[in-house]
Amino acid sequence: MNSVIVLLELEPATEVIDSAEVDIGARVRWVHAAGADPDAQEDPLPRTLCGLDSSEMEHEHYRPSGPGDPWYPEEYRGRRCQECDAALRG
Ligand SMILES: [Zn+2]
Repeated sequence: MNSVIVLLELEPATEVIDSAEVDIGARVRWVHAAGADPDAQEDPLPRTLCGLDSSEMEHEHYRPSGPGDPWYPEEYRGRRCQECDAALRG
């Protein structure tokens, strides 16, 4: 797999907040990974590696800075999806 896109599964909002200032990090339930669309490298495939619908998830725009780095952002270590993690570790 040449490119992985990190997606954030969020807790459902308890109220509708129409603002770009919402603290996304406080609402992250799980961090998933999806392959990149071959025709649009910034777009995820319709399904995550664990088989969930990726269209409802937030695009994290995270990229590992080196070969030894994890696929997920460090601050979400405890919330990484175990299925996606296993899929990426092979
Ligand atoms: Zn997953």
